[in-house]
Amino acid sequence: MLVTAIDHQESIDHILDKALDNQDISEAEGLLLLQQVESDTITKIQATADRLRKRQVGDTVTYVINRNINFTNICEQHCSFCAFRRDAGAEGAFWLNTDQIISKTSEAVAQGATEICMQGGLNPAAKIEGASLAYYLALVATIKNQFPQIHLHAFSPQEIQFIAREDKIAYQEVIIALQDAGVDSMPGTAAEVLDDSVRKIICPEKIDTATWLEIVSTAHRLGMPTTSTMLSGHIETPSQQISHLHKLRSLQQQALTNNYPGKITEFILLPFVGKEAPQALRKRVGRDQPVLADTLKLTAVARIFLGNWIVNHQPSWVKLGLQGATEALSWGCNDLGGTLMEEHITTMAGAQGGTCMTVEELQTAIASLKRPYKQRQTIY
Ligand code: SF4
Repeated sequence: MLVTAIDHQESIDHILDKALDNQDISEAEGLLLLQQVESDTITKIQATADRLRKRQVGDTVTYVINRNINFTNICEQHCSFCAFRRDAGAEGAFWLNTDQIISKTSEAVAQGATEICMQGGLNPAAKIEGASLAYYLALVATIKNQFPQIHLHAFSPQEIQFIAREDKIAYQEVIIALQDAGVDSMPGTAAEVLDDSVRKIICPEKIDTATWLEIVSTAHRLGMPTTSTMLSGHIETPSQQISHLHKLRSLQQQALTNNYPGKITEFILLPFVGKEAPQALRKRVGRDQPVLADTLKLTAVARIFLGNWIVNHQPSWVKLGLQGATEALSWGCNDLGGTLMEEHITTMAGAQGGTCMTVEELQTAIASLKRPYKQRQTIY
């Protein structure tokens, strides 16, 4: 029994040494880390993630001054975790017009924003002369004509597929047109968990794993940087979490080894908030707010597993609250995200983190760890 415990500790130490030695750990090794429950072992995993963070990106914690604009919540899909979507005409449905988008952007710019993050529901009525792409291009022009300096971080891989499907054109055609119109980078959202058996339950109408990977890789090939995300803490297993991280790492390896002009700029962990989510999934998961300890362990394992391939890691203050997100900075994260100014998707799901942060709040949180802070641009 004693020998087994020693062997076990040795294998954990070996995995952590391997990561510190700049070697990629395997999926089996990542899974073993995630399965640890002893507090001493988890402390070792945390310390390794923190050392890697310090070595890869230093002590400075970054943030971005940005505003979220969700232009509509009218959506044809019915993801089982989504409290944001509405049918057209239903109570609470909204669809912003040009003036509202300009006014929100203008307010953001006046507050020093360098980025607008724009995503929305999949609204089949959002067309100009029957074309979905024309509508999205007009959205981009609305912002870029008046604010050409703003970085437009917009439209998830799912939205790219929606436009392509509606207009019967290739993903590449959509991405090139959006890029030419002024979209600067793509949010790596709609990834949820890149496992089709999980997707069939939580987002059955969404693009499958292969399509998500194909669209993000196409963006990289065309010179559009993307972020990457994972929606954790619902029905997925630790093995599916590691497999998701493995797919992201491989995608980044593909971009870098092929010298694509775009790549993944950061990894953002998004723990599931179930409070106002549709009943079926909420009941199945059985709790309203994320489990902080699980999220922190996964945060550390993500830093270790993604290694030198993806070096910027961001927790979600919307999902964890500012205190939880600040804690994640000691578990491998080096960025506190954006000011957002408004947030609907998770707030409608019952998150307690709030919908906006001032620069001072972010700076104070970072300073509480005695680490320096710095404003960054969207792609670092
Ligand atoms: S998560 Fe996105 S695609 Fe799914 S229902 Fe909500 S708005 Fe629609």
